[in-house]
Amino acid sequence: MRVLLIEDEDRLRKALEAGLRAEGHEVLGAADGAEGLELAADPRLDVIVCDILLPKVNGFQVCRRLREQGIWTPILMLTAKDGEWDEAEALDAGADGYLTKPFSYVVLAAHLRALARRAPSGAPGESSVVQAGSLRLDFRSGRCQRGNDEVELSRRELALLGALVSRPDEVCSKKELLAKVWGPEFDGDENIVEVYVGYLRRKIDQRFSCRSIETVRGVGYRFCSDAHRA
Ligand code: CA
Repeated sequence: MRVLLIEDEDRLRKALEAGLRAEGHEVLGAADGAEGLELAADPRLDVIVCDILLPKVNGFQVCRRLREQGIWTPILMLTAKDGEWDEAEALDAGADGYLTKPFSYVVLAAHLRALARRAPSGAPGESSVVQAGSLRLDFRSGRCQRGNDEVELSRRELALLGALVSRPDEVCSKKELLAKVWGPEFDGDENIVEVYVGYLRRKIDQRFSCRSIETVRGVGYRFCSDAHRA
């Protein structure tokens, strides 16, 4: 398998790299979160191992950003001992599992095999493809289609639409969407959600005379599973 290791402790990273290579795996190493994010875009990766405390971009942010970008490669987070909050946050950030430091190489290798065996986990739901009425979203490839028509969405737009579609006919508050799509560390204007809903409506609704994203005044937005014609 092809593994990306994002770990700033050189000795640990090099030891893991050597171990995995000896078993015949291909290994990419990154010593900080920014480099890790760049390398993680490689679609041939089977699994990513990511430390939490990293220079530039921390492990939680790496995880969130990848998921926001629609990259669903399985991620194993390395957490500190007694870090139950870290473990919870790792999973909330979109990681598929965690391993507490210090760990033995044998256990790490077993976790990686288990993750790589899994089908690629998808954005909302189990598969990377979500069908909602005539809308079809593929989070792996970043494609969106309305019927047979291709709709070009940015990764952020796709992530927002994914968040809405994952809870059809339910109201998603602006705050929730902000946390899910922009990350809890985002501290800009929450009207950004409105701006992006506007982009989405233009692209997935107005062009097709549909109305699938409703505004629920003072609360948030609702995705209607059967988009009625406007
Ligand atoms: Ca570290």
